[in-house]
Amino acid sequence: MDLNTITEVVRHPSERPTDDWREGDAWLAGGTWLFSAEQPDLRRLIDLTALRWDPLVPSDEGLEIGATCTIRDLHAFAHPDEWTAGPLLTTSCEAFLSSFKVWNAATVGGNICMSLPAGPMITLTVALEATYELWAPDGSQRIVDALDFVTGDHQNILTPGEILRCVRIPANALGKLATHRRFTLTHLGRSTVFVVGTRTPGANDLLLTVTAGTTRPVRMAFDSMPDAQTLQQSIDVIPGDVWFADPNGTPDHRRHLTKHFVEEIRRELMGGEPS
Ligand SMILES: Cc1cc2nc3c(=O)[nH]c(=O)nc-3n(C[C@H](O)[C@H](O)[C@H](O)COP(=O)(O)OP(=O)(O)OC[C@H]3O[C@@H](n4cnc5c(N)ncnc54)[C@H](O)[C@@H]3O)c2cc1C
Repeated sequence: MDLNTITEVVRHPSERPTDDWREGDAWLAGGTWLFSAEQPDLRRLIDLTALRWDPLVPSDEGLEIGATCTIRDLHAFAHPDEWTAGPLLTTSCEAFLSSFKVWNAATVGGNICMSLPAGPMITLTVALEATYELWAPDGSQRIVDALDFVTGDHQNILTPGEILRCVRIPANALGKLATHRRFTLTHLGRSTVFVVGTRTPGANDLLLTVTAGTTRPVRMAFDSMPDAQTLQQSIDVIPGDVWFADPNGTPDHRRHLTKHFVEEIRRELMGGEPS
């Protein structure tokens, strides 16, 4: 859609684009959301993709993902064999309700900063214990836990003019055993719930991440594998107003699905042993 309030597009921002931020500016990444709705408060777009940040930097420490890495590039990434949780990268890309345009242009950072409950890059990065590097207009930067970034439906901790520069997924999380369950109302539809469980190889722990069914990600850590009842109770204590309501599901439906899926995940990560 034409954004008829925009009077300027900065096609070649400085290396530190936050220095030049002013009210009415928006960071332009893939533009798949920015150009899909009216933006009456915006006057200027600053194109982050022109900065050519490295999209994917694997190392012994893990995986660094530049905020402007596209979903298509992340999907095509061939992860090292020892990253047993690596298939979750692909699964999360495929969890988009994605048109051709979204698939090819949408970015990892844009998805996280949109902060929608069904943001699959949020699911991925919270489940794999990532941190985000944020740059502020005053020149400072901070590292935050992915879990703390999204605070509600389309809400996050970014302050005006702050930018998400990159995501770092640690190698130890990529080396975990991982499984997931996801429900959509329609084939290739938007996620109603997307739940991920991980376990450290050789240990009996469980890290459970509940997304899409909730307005913000919920993560629970268990030092040892909980029994079925304990796990169900841990879902029951999620506050009622955290469950999301939209045409893809009521809060009750989402809670019900989540309780069903977490038990499946628990059993799968235990190796199918009964409780
Ligand atoms: C057909 C269709 C299907 C969609 N399906 C889904 C879906 O299943 N799940 C979902 O979550 N979303 C979905 N979306 C919404 C949106 O397209 C995605 O969230 C997408 O990932 C946004 O990424 P982008 O790079 O295009 O962001 P943009 O549209 O460029 O930007 C989105 C917002 O984030 C800000 N932003 C972008 N990058 C940064 C950064 N690095 N730092 C700070 N702020 C930044 C922008 O200023 C803007 O406010 C869909 C949209 C369409 C049109």
